[in-house]
Amino acid sequence: MALPSVNAHSIGQKTRGVGHNGLFSCNPNNFRVQQSPPLQAAADSYVYNSDAMTSTIPKLPFQYDFSLRSHNTFGIDASARAYLPVATLATLQALRADADAVSMPRLVLGGGSNLVLTQDFPGLVLHMCNRGREIVGADEHAVYVRAAAGENWHDFLQWTLAQGFGGLENLSLIPGSVGAAPIQNIGAYGCELQDRFHSLTALDMDSGEILQLDREACAFAYRDSIFKQSLRDRAVVLDVTFALPKDWQPNLRYADVAQELAARGLDNPTARDISDAVIAIRTRKLPDPLLLGNAGSFFKNPIVPAAQRDALLAQNPQLVSYLQADGSYKLAAGWLIDQCGWKGKNLGNAGVYEKQALVLVNRGGASGQDVVRLAQAVQDDVMATFGVALEPEPMFI
Ligand SMILES: Cc1cc2nc3c(=O)[nH]c(=O)nc-3n(C[C@H](O)[C@H](O)[C@H](O)COP(=O)(O)OP(=O)(O)OC[C@H]3O[C@@H](n4cnc5c(N)ncnc54)[C@H](O)[C@@H]3O)c2cc1C
Repeated sequence: MALPSVNAHSIGQKTRGVGHNGLFSCNPNNFRVQQSPPLQAAADSYVYNSDAMTSTIPKLPFQYDFSLRSHNTFGIDASARAYLPVATLATLQALRADADAVSMPRLVLGGGSNLVLTQDFPGLVLHMCNRGREIVGADEHAVYVRAAAGENWHDFLQWTLAQGFGGLENLSLIPGSVGAAPIQNIGAYGCELQDRFHSLTALDMDSGEILQLDREACAFAYRDSIFKQSLRDRAVVLDVTFALPKDWQPNLRYADVAQELAARGLDNPTARDISDAVIAIRTRKLPDPLLLGNAGSFFKNPIVPAAQRDALLAQNPQLVSYLQADGSYKLAAGWLIDQCGWKGKNLGNAGVYEKQALVLVNRGGASGQDVVRLAQAVQDDVMATFGVALEPEPMFI
């Protein structure tokens, strides 16, 4: 199978693949495709066509005063000065050549599930709509699968499972797009995107370069990456490649997942069983954005020095905390908010979800400012009560 070629400029060094000992370059041309049953199955799927990303420069179909209400999971009624669906690299290149368009403030949009629209956006929204997923190679350690940025994350994940490849199952049902997943290094139930990440392709909107970034270059951390730091507002992720381990082992580090599987009588779970369990847990715990607007966990779990955690524990024996590799502790932000009495409370048209205090919700007609006010009130209370600063997880636009 011919591998899609990219005019790649790698700013990454070498990367170490998940579950294997050797080093390999992030150049996709180094992959060797294995003619295996999963490849047969993949013939039914559609293939990510990178040629479509290098075709002729199109005329840009801007839409003006575009409502973003159905493009953010909070359901906030805000609009963008201009909106452009992006299905090809040529669209982005044409945009770079358009002096007016390129001077506008820019927001790259996926599924809008990690945003708070605090006001009408006075610039150009680039909505990633490129599609495609394919198996790009395999070696003795992993199968490599690539998906376009505009693919829906959960649909892509289900597709990998249907091909017989485990590895992403703990991240089931996280809303949003493939292209946004590396931005905050999505994580859930004991797994982070970086655990299965191989490389990604991005366009640097400032220089026009195509970047091929490996794991080190992406500087992943807890809900963080280079795309929230030095490449913020610069890089548009075009596609992401994952390394799915051939020696798959179930990840049952999270008690909730282990308990759900035990309740289902599954001692020897498959990746599909774990995905089903995660879907069931998440459906019980988290509000469906279509029914109750939200952006998932609103605050990061704060990380504090051991001395601060010990002092808090002495005063609050029920404190929920997790030891980190560097000796610091991650505190459960939801527990802190709950202790401040916010669970189920509202401020204006925004509220704290009654089943999970970490989730802020739109009670109906909430504005971005309602959400900002509620978030600030919660932060102030947690600071006053515990001396701990809560940092929001979604991007405030
Ligand atoms: C109910 C619910 C549950 C959630 N659970 C989790 C969870 O368990 N774990 C977790 O980590 N997150 C969770 N989230 C948050 C969210 O789903 C993820 O952060 C997701 O990756 C966001 O994807 P998106 O396409 O919606 O991004 P958007 O909200 O559209 O964008 C988020 C950020 O990424 C940038 N961006 C988007 N696409 C690109 C691109 N192609 N190139 C460059 N920048 C881009 C945007 O500019 C913005 O800054 C949850 C959200 C909801 C609503």
